[in-house]
Amino acid sequence: MMKINIVGAGPAGLFFAYLMKKDFPAHRVIVFEQNPVDATFGFGVVLSERALRFLSVGDGQLVDRLSQRMEQWSDQHLVHRGERVVIDGSSYAAIERLSLLQELGSACAEVGVEVHFSHRIDAIDDLSDCDILVGSDGANSVVRDQFADALGTRVTDLRNYFAWYGVDCAYPAHTLTFKSDGGGVFCGHHYRYTPTRSTFVAEVDSDTWQRSGMYAMSNDERRRLFEDLFRDTLDGRELLTNRSAWRRWRLVTNDRWSFRNVVLLGDALRTAHPSIGSGTRLAMEDAISLWRAFTDHSENIGAAFAAYERERRPIRNRMNEAADRSIDWYERLPEKMALSAYAFAYDYALRTGIVTARRLAAESPRFYSGYAEEIARLASASPSKNPSAAV
Ligand SMILES: Cc1cc2nc3c(=O)[nH]c(=O)nc-3n(C[C@H](O)[C@H](O)[C@H](O)COP(=O)(O)OP(=O)(O)OC[C@H]3O[C@@H](n4cnc5c(N)ncnc54)[C@H](O)[C@@H]3O)c2cc1C
Repeated sequence: MMKINIVGAGPAGLFFAYLMKKDFPAHRVIVFEQNPVDATFGFGVVLSERALRFLSVGDGQLVDRLSQRMEQWSDQHLVHRGERVVIDGSSYAAIERLSLLQELGSACAEVGVEVHFSHRIDAIDDLSDCDILVGSDGANSVVRDQFADALGTRVTDLRNYFAWYGVDCAYPAHTLTFKSDGGGVFCGHHYRYTPTRSTFVAEVDSDTWQRSGMYAMSNDERRRLFEDLFRDTLDGRELLTNRSAWRRWRLVTNDRWSFRNVVLLGDALRTAHPSIGSGTRLAMEDAISLWRAFTDHSENIGAAFAAYERERRPIRNRMNEAADRSIDWYERLPEKMALSAYAFAYDYALRTGIVTARRLAAESPRFYSGYAEEIARLASASPSKNPSAAV
């Protein structure tokens, strides 16, 4: 029998707690969460169909339960300087973050996990009477910071700024709307996660942040600026807030994933940039992998931690490389805006290197033929010009 202390009741901590207690009922599994029950930041998160398939490996029935509370759609829309381009062939689902946590919390309660809400951990010493201490306390992890030297933690603030809002309407698809004016380029990622509500992530590059004067504004003023710029997209609605502060994305990496009896999961281990939309899935997959390592190695903690890192590190590295390329794309948005609508969408679709031109042609045939037509039209209108370049 082991005692497992887990800091943080986000997707990683709750999913790991549930899987461990379900499989090893004799273990004592305790989760400490700083927020009260039913309180969280943000609105909805996207999970691709592929992500749901991965998560089914952990617990198919639980993923079915989550699916009941999801909004699903195919196609992605890009609105570039007012022109809408549809990228067909991709399947997505989105769920309210709170609903996800509630379902995971109920599953934890059903198997006997002890969850202590409104219990912030400031000192790890208080938790040292356990066999395993899991740091699933997100990007600003206290567990990780306590062992930062031993874990080889590196934290970098990226250049773009963003804030996470909600809006009281249901967009038909996952949509990226890009606008430019004298102040720079403004981006909204919006998608529904309930039949009546959508997430709206607002983002600007660092030049826009300076030139538009956003750097000197209050968070309320920045929200109002976006409401004005995106009046048509929002159909005049307000952006809803839930601790929606503007900030830079914090990139966290660790050279080592565990130290003594301490192990990291999810954003505490490595933050995944929202533009690849996989942070929740990666956090839950980490939980699956660590749980599987314990099913293979039982109470041999060192062997389980090593197996977890061996399995997950190459996958995480691949996602990190994809995320780095996506981050670079968003940081170069002003130059990308000069492309024509289809060339812009094509460039976007290929930005991470995961989707190749061949795969795009096979999986998104309607989009691909629209792109090919546009390139042919531009080439015949201006034969000397590179057709995929600025128009
Ligand atoms: C703008 C934005 C958009 C995003 N969009 C998507 C998306 O579309 N799809 C997607 O998959 N992901 C998305 N993400 C990322 C996703 O939210 C995270 O990657 C995911 O939540 C990580 O899960 P986690 O369990 O590791 O950490 P978190 O979800 O951050 O959970 C950590 C938990 O630990 C608690 N905690 C922290 N410190 C302490 C402490 N000292 N004591 C006790 N409790 C503590 C926190 O309150 C929190 O509940 C987005 C994130 C942002 C910011």
